[in-house]
Amino acid sequence: MFQKILIANRGEIACRVIDTARRLGVRTVAVFSDADRAARHVALADEAVHIGGPAPKDSYLRGDAIIRAALDTGAQAIHPGYGFLSENPDFVEAVTAAGLVFIGPSASAIRAMGLKDAAKALMSQAGVPVVPGYHGENQDPAHLEEQAGRIGYPVLIKAVAGGGGKGMRLVERPQDFASALQSAQGEAATAFGNPAVLIEKYIQRPRHIEVQVFGDGTRAVHLFERDCSLQRRHQKVIEEAPAPGMTPEMRQAMGNAAVRAAEAIGYAGAGTIEFIVDASGGLRPDGFWFMEMNTRLQVEHPVTEAITGVDLVEWQLRVASGEPLPARQEDLTIHGHAFEARLYAEDVPAGFLPATGRLAHLRFADTARNETGVRQGDTISPWYDPMIAKVITWGKTRAMALGKLEAALVDTEVAGTVTNIDFLIALTRHGGFRAGQVDTGLIARDLDALVAASEPQPAARALAVIGLAGLADPSVKGGMTLWQPLRRTIAWQGGQAVLEVLGPGAACVTLDGQPLDVRWQGDRWWVDGALSRHRITAHDGGVSVFGAGSLHLAPLDPLDRQADAGAGAALTLSPMPGLVKSVHVAAGQAVKAGDRLAVLEAMKMEHGLTAARDGVVAEVLAAAGQQVEAGAPLIRLEEEDA
Ligand code: ADP
Ligand code: ADP
Ligand code: MG
Repeated sequence: MFQKILIANRGEIACRVIDTARRLGVRTVAVFSDADRAARHVALADEAVHIGGPAPKDSYLRGDAIIRAALDTGAQAIHPGYGFLSENPDFVEAVTAAGLVFIGPSASAIRAMGLKDAAKALMSQAGVPVVPGYHGENQDPAHLEEQAGRIGYPVLIKAVAGGGGKGMRLVERPQDFASALQSAQGEAATAFGNPAVLIEKYIQRPRHIEVQVFGDGTRAVHLFERDCSLQRRHQKVIEEAPAPGMTPEMRQAMGNAAVRAAEAIGYAGAGTIEFIVDASGGLRPDGFWFMEMNTRLQVEHPVTEAITGVDLVEWQLRVASGEPLPARQEDLTIHGHAFEARLYAEDVPAGFLPATGRLAHLRFADTARNETGVRQGDTISPWYDPMIAKVITWGKTRAMALGKLEAALVDTEVAGTVTNIDFLIALTRHGGFRAGQVDTGLIARDLDALVAASEPQPAARALAVIGLAGLADPSVKGGMTLWQPLRRTIAWQGGQAVLEVLGPGAACVTLDGQPLDVRWQGDRWWVDGALSRHRITAHDGGVSVFGAGSLHLAPLDPLDRQADAGAGAALTLSPMPGLVKSVHVAAGQAVKAGDRLAVLEAMKMEHGLTAARDGVVAEVLAAAGQQVEAGAPLIRLEEEDA
């Protein structure tokens, strides 16, 4: 076993790797950017080395600085986590050339799986079923269109260098092919510097089922499947293991195919083979096809750990340090069921925009495994993935594990930023999901209902008003203080309500013209006669009401309000933290309402910002390439009467 390793990552995955290393008696070195000086992974590691500025290209993507840090601290090996340099074969070669061990597969195995077309060709040679389609060299549009016709519509155009759902287009009819091809190639060229595409049969009602593999460079075993069908825009939201409805025959067929795939490229370490499954007629041993391989530890690996009892990071460290595979296939069994939910700082009603903020209050449920890179008081910065935590639960049955996930999410408390927690809770209550009827279109089909169900409930809003008025503080007996008027207006950023204290432990809160009767005794609350399961917490960012349909109210800051009123109509503000991709106007230019002013990139997506009204640009306050916070002024129009 190694004495010391360096972790070339940040956030929850760096903390996760440190946990296991510590348990095995391995010393750890963290690396950090300017934005992460006080981050949790830095505090947890035995040593930490500063490697540069906050932008990933200036720090976590700087292979040379990371290798230097490993050599300087005497680390013997580098764990890449996921993302950043984890699937970069040039980095693997540089690590090896420096005399260090890369905790992961060889550069050649990563290269073999790096491009989707080459990977599919390799897999079909190894006897692994691949999605029917065209993955040849000829990129002539007429040829590709002919191939699409041969495959049969609907088809999916995919960038061969693709990832994160970019450069992917669904084409339902032949007459739409040419323009879809053009836009997929354009997006692929910009995002990956490689316009090449492949054409695939589009699977109807698909499920995403992937198999965890583990190799020693020659032999491989599999650790069963995970179902990641709950996706929004090709991004995973909730994952589970095993897959609902899986049969022993299909599991065996998928496991064998995954092991063949790993052994075909001499795979070493943890990897995932992603399959697309046609679930329209139930799960069948001949109804799955290879999609791609992720040559790293996967975000959702904890659900596999929960059902197998294996610590995958321990296996990674043992195999990389020269030990044989820790188990034979026949030693591995499935025990129970597990779920993982990805808790993000994001604004769900605004279209899942990534958010930032200081975590004024943070508490996880002690009934779940919570993997996190942040603590109370830490900041979700605009520089990195806005994940706050992964919440993982296990149960003897699927229903028990899902019930525990719902309960753990209801008990989780995050204040200081908006999150997707209520959306996740709504998902755990979704009838189809509960019944195990999952497919990759489930979230999109029921999006409106899921978002509506995750909106704050009137009861939570009334309790938040009680909290802001200071009545939830148990030291204020029964809410009766002599110096407060019995009837007053309580205002916060974005709203106000009328509060009338009726007596000890009783008040009426009028919100949007609707009166709600609130009664309390200790920390038990009744709203209009119904016992509320919400919890009220005051913190330095305001007041939060936790439980399903949570809500946060920040106290009014009179200065802020004036600033807003003065500049509001003329200013275009950044709706989220992100990178300014391009600016399309200059000072002095006349614009019409709806004209595109700038494009912002955040979380792998581009968002166009348009003019709210006709006018003349007075000032451009941001430049392409600039990283901006939510609320940053970008474009100012001249005052209308000026
Ligand atoms: P997985 O395929 O492991 O389930 P996702 O598909 O959700 O992971 O994520 C895809 C990619 O997004 C990751 O491989 C990584 O490149 C990037 N990513 C996700 N989270 C982070 C993070 N916290 N830091 C850096 N990159 C990340
Ligand atoms: P990425 O590299 O962007 O992760 P993938 O090839 O893994 O791209 O596909 C991402 C997602 O797109 C899958 O999880 C699935 O939801 C959907 N998808 C991919 N291929 C197909 C297909 N042939 N038919 C239907 N859906 C597909
Ligand atoms: Mg994928």
